[in-house]
Amino acid sequence: MVLCKTKTDILTYIGSIGYDLPKIGFVPTMGALHEGHLTLVREAKRLSSFVICSIFVNPAQFNEEKDYKAYPITIENDIFLLEKERCDMLFLPSISEIYPTGFHNRQHYPIGNIENVLEGAYRPGHFQGVCLVIDRLLDILKPNILLLGQKDYQQCLVIQFLVNYKNMPVEIKVIPTVREASGLAMSSRNLRLSITGREKAAIIYRVLQDIKQNGFQLTEDWQQHIRKQLIEAGFESIDYVVSYPSGFLDNSEDRLGLGKKVALIAANIEGVRLIDNIIGY
Ligand code: AMP
Repeated sequence: MVLCKTKTDILTYIGSIGYDLPKIGFVPTMGALHEGHLTLVREAKRLSSFVICSIFVNPAQFNEEKDYKAYPITIENDIFLLEKERCDMLFLPSISEIYPTGFHNRQHYPIGNIENVLEGAYRPGHFQGVCLVIDRLLDILKPNILLLGQKDYQQCLVIQFLVNYKNMPVEIKVIPTVREASGLAMSSRNLRLSITGREKAAIIYRVLQDIKQNGFQLTEDWQQHIRKQLIEAGFESIDYVVSYPSGFLDNSEDRLGLGKKVALIAANIEGVRLIDNIIGY
C-alpha cells in the first residue's frame, strides 16, 4: 500500500502510473477502522482497479471541540488492517493540507432543508463541514466511485447533493450497515463504550426492526414508549426517534438505493452519541 500525505505525493504517484489511469474507488474515513469500513474497502476493490482510503478526522464537521478531541485514533492498527485488505493507497493528510487557508469562513453550500433536520439540528454546521472535506478530497483524488455507509444515512443524501451541485463525475455507492452479532451498528465511537454499554446499546437495532415490522407507522404514543424503553435500557438521553416515508428527506427517486421508507434514531449512552437507521420498501 502506498502512503501519501500531500496532494503533491498523489500527483507524483498517479503521474508515475502513466496514461493508463486506473478506475479509482475511494473510501473516505476518519480512521479507528472496523469491519464496516473494511467492507467498504472490499466493495471498492470489487468495483474498481485502484482503491484509495483516506483517514482524516475532519475538525470542520465537529460542532463540539470535546467530541473532536475524544475521537479515537488508532493509526498503526488502521494501516495494518488496510494492508491486509490490499488497499492500494492510504491518503493521510494533515489539517493544513486539506485546509491550507483554514476552515472557518469558508464557502457555504446550499444544501437545503436536509441540512437542518435530525443530525443537522443536533450538530449545527456539521453537514457544511462534511461538504467541505468531501469536496476537497474529491478534488484531490478524482475517484470514479465513492463508497459510503448507509449507517450515516443523512450524510449519504448530503454528499449526493454535493456531487450533483458541483457536477462531479463520480458515482456514489452506498453499502448496508455492518453490525456486531448483537445488532449494534459498528462505529468508531463504540470504542468509547464499556462492554455493558455496548450490550445495552444493541436495543437500538431491535427497536428499529420493530418499527420496520410495523410498516414504519410510528405513532406519537409509540415514539414515547420507545424513548422510555431506551432510557430504561440505560441511555441518558434520546435526540430523535423518527420514521419517514419516501422522498420526505431527500425529495429524490431513491437514486442511492436507500429505500422508500426510513426510521432513524440518535441517542446518548455513557456520554457517546450513537446513530442508526433502517430502511424499507
Ligand atoms: P467514519 O470513519 O465514521 O467517518 O465513516 C467512514 C465511512 O464508513 C462512512 O461512509 C460511514 O458511513 C461508513 N461506515 C461507518 N460505520 C459503518 C458500518 N457499521 N457499516 C457500514 N459502513 C459504515
